[in-house]
Amino acid sequence: MSEVYLDYNASAPLDPRVMDAMVPVLRESVGNASSVHRFGRRQAAAVNDARDLVSALVGGRASGVVFTSGATEANNLALRGAVDFAVAANTGKQRRQRILISAVEHSSVSQTAGWLSDRGLVKLDVIGVTEGGYVDSNVLVGLLDDDVLLVSVMAANSETGVLNPITEIAEHVRTSGAILHCDATQIVGRLPFDMNASGADLVSVSSHKICGPGGVGALIGTHRALQQLEPVLYGGGHERGLRSGSLNVAGIVGFGEAARLAMQEQEQGLEAIRVSALRDSLVERLQSNLAGVSQNGDTSRRLPNTASIRFEGADAEAVVVNMDPIAASTGSACNAGSIEPSEVLLAMGLSRETAFESIRFSLGRFTTEADISTAVESVAKAITRVRALKQV
Ligand code: PMP
Repeated sequence: MSEVYLDYNASAPLDPRVMDAMVPVLRESVGNASSVHRFGRRQAAAVNDARDLVSALVGGRASGVVFTSGATEANNLALRGAVDFAVAANTGKQRRQRILISAVEHSSVSQTAGWLSDRGLVKLDVIGVTEGGYVDSNVLVGLLDDDVLLVSVMAANSETGVLNPITEIAEHVRTSGAILHCDATQIVGRLPFDMNASGADLVSVSSHKICGPGGVGALIGTHRALQQLEPVLYGGGHERGLRSGSLNVAGIVGFGEAARLAMQEQEQGLEAIRVSALRDSLVERLQSNLAGVSQNGDTSRRLPNTASIRFEGADAEAVVVNMDPIAASTGSACNAGSIEPSEVLLAMGLSRETAFESIRFSLGRFTTEADISTAVESVAKAITRVRALKQV
């Protein structure tokens, strides 16, 4: 049986057009983008072209792009950078000493926030989500006050695809005077996202989620928000002094090309329609082949490519192993050797048992109808097998 990759939210395949843009850089380019000689200047020009493209993807300014190793680093820079800056600026008496994050953030936000709070640098409050998996801005308003330094809410959740009302959230955050950080890793390239229109101050993105190379991402900020960050990496002062380290030129060029292609696809609007039709067909066909199949999260407000599906009575880890060579993922995490259910699903009020029965399927640019047919067949067989084993 042929392999089928339905795990785009973990990492999307490299678009061959992105590779074509990177190969000449790898093959022919030489020099450090910060060197003043012509070799260095050529590298810097290529990086700046990519800066234009990546900022355009989120409606930001090219001069507000800080290239990083990925969204994990961008999220760390946003949270640690803002807290460090505030602590340094208000030694002794720190007025804004709380941060708020949603209960469904990626671990690179939640763990960073937890670390900052464990160190006593801030007080952390978690914004609960609705059963549908999104932040209700009334709940946020209840937590917001003039002692809040930063609020971090993702645009779209990686496990359920559910969208948060960022524009609404931004209005409240702006009134309170806090900084709004938005992890836009999963939304960009899938649905239009404009940081200017939505009012986010700092936005994290990652190249490998949009068919670009791995190991590159960016934090994009307004000038005002970036001025309120302390670096996480110190050194030669690259990237506005916020992220020292010689630039990964080929990776950044690839990221730029991936951003350009994503915008092009978005303008045509066809990819989202095609991918959501395939996703819906996957769900419908699984539901007509099997009993006890339901979806997690509010399906009326989610990414076109994602479905978090619960298969009653079937342990998801066992199903994923049994449905090889179809790739999808469980949201479970391995902590100190024991498997823990997805925190996202638990935050939405699912029981541990239900969360353990859930699998995320995420599709993308290269998913075909044939892939969906193969997946339906394989998944149905795996579910039937795992359910039967449970009966024994
Ligand atoms: N944020 C979200 C919402 C993600 O889905 C991911 C990747 N799983 C990350 C951050 C981390 O991105 P990266 O792999 O670029 O560090």
